[in-house]
Amino acid sequence: MLTECPTPVILLKEGTDTSQGVPQLISNINACQVIAEAVRTTLGPRGMDKLMVDGRGKATISNDGATILKLLDVVHPAAKTLVDIARSQDAEVGDGTTSVTLLAAEFLKQLKPYVEEGLHPQTIIRAFRSATHLAVKKIREISVTVKKDDKKEQRELLVKCAATAMNSKLIAGQKEFFSEMVVEAVMMLDELLPLKMIGIKKVQGGALEESHLVAGVAFKKTFSYAGFEMQPKRYDQPKIALLNVELELKAEKDNAEVRVKSVEACGGSIQTSVGSMTDDVLGRCEVFEEVQVGGERYNFFKGCPRSHTCTIILRGGAEQFMEETERSLHDAIMIVRRAIKNDSIVAGGGAIEMELSKYLRDYSRTIPGKQQLLIGAYAKALEIIPRQLCDNAGFDATNILNKLRAKHAQGGMWYGVDVNNEDIADNYLACVWEPSIVRINALTAASEAACLILSVDETIKNPRSSVEGPPGGGRGRGRGRPHAH
Ligand code: ADP
Ligand code: MG
Repeated sequence: MLTECPTPVILLKEGTDTSQGVPQLISNINACQVIAEAVRTTLGPRGMDKLMVDGRGKATISNDGATILKLLDVVHPAAKTLVDIARSQDAEVGDGTTSVTLLAAEFLKQLKPYVEEGLHPQTIIRAFRSATHLAVKKIREISVTVKKDDKKEQRELLVKCAATAMNSKLIAGQKEFFSEMVVEAVMMLDELLPLKMIGIKKVQGGALEESHLVAGVAFKKTFSYAGFEMQPKRYDQPKIALLNVELELKAEKDNAEVRVKSVEACGGSIQTSVGSMTDDVLGRCEVFEEVQVGGERYNFFKGCPRSHTCTIILRGGAEQFMEETERSLHDAIMIVRRAIKNDSIVAGGGAIEMELSKYLRDYSRTIPGKQQLLIGAYAKALEIIPRQLCDNAGFDATNILNKLRAKHAQGGMWYGVDVNNEDIADNYLACVWEPSIVRINALTAASEAACLILSVDETIKNPRSSVEGPPGGGRGRGRGRPHAH
């Protein structure tokens, strides 16, 4: 007689933790909400900053979504997706990192009821992709193009864009000063606007307003030699030898950086010996100077012929404060570069999100079934941006959002939150502008992240490997971290 004895198929080793299906999806969605909570209050000009202290006791104050998430050291595999999109938003457009995280989490939050209901994730994903497609098309349609031929007008626009980016930062009080400086710096670059040709050097001490821009390469004097005090501190039209020879042991890393930057800026090539010093290996610049900046001696190479380069010398008090200033300037520099490259802008302060939300809501009414509800959910999720801006400013969000919905229904397409007067305002006229690309990138990335998280219905965590030696491949699909003993 044959007995039915089902032999279990053993695929994974004992102790492997798998969780799957709807509960898994819901738990991933919840994890993402926690991530959003961490950055929620930093959004917008009235956003708060976070102070983070790492294992070694190093403190960082930041308002930047990507920076905060990076420092949080998230291990949850699904929640990590949000950290990744914040980082890629930072790398690609340099701004909108908090927005992208909030949007992704809000998308997930709005579609959670549908997942719980048992709606197939692929149905949801399809709806979200088409909504994103429509939204991006709409942004392209309504964004305002800036004329490039009028240099003065372009410059004014860039300064406004930079100032908007700084609104939410610690340096908002000095935004006029810094937005001019940032635009000046970017204008010094060549056509391709290479970011690395803008150096930022922090010199502790002095007032923030003593920060200045140097047209050329600047670095801390990294070497000295016997009798250097007697040498002139300024040379006109010097020739520059770039030596890969250690003149002094310390600061080799700094020296290396100096060489690379100088080669790109001044021309010439790096020599490993002083034997064959011909004219063609020497770099050139207009002025070389040694100057005192705060407590430091600085070397300036000004007027470099080969490449357009500049250095921002930042002054200020606390180290964390200067680091945050540097990050804020970086954001603003990225915005200005983007605005030069893509001369198309939309109004911020939730205006563009409200307009897209209205557009998608109207559109959803024209289609039947589940897709209607899902696109409606997408439209609702977009409202998180103006809502959070209100919350962070301490406004009555429901009231402001009602006003905004009404205004947008009447065709006031650039109306957004007015953070100064607890009201709504035409943010296009108020010059609260953002490059369209920042919003397009944020929307696309947030929706893709939401879809990615939805399409994962199983996480397999490997147990701690008991085998000695390096784990030999085949670690399965799980992203479980091997623990150190
Ligand atoms: P992110 O990391 O997403 O760039 P921010 O903290 O920089 O986050 O906040 C950006 C949001 O704040 C954008 O939606 C932007 O439109 C809005 N914002 C910036 N300045 C203003 C302002 N003056 N009034 C209203 N909203 C503003
Ligand atoms: Mg920003």
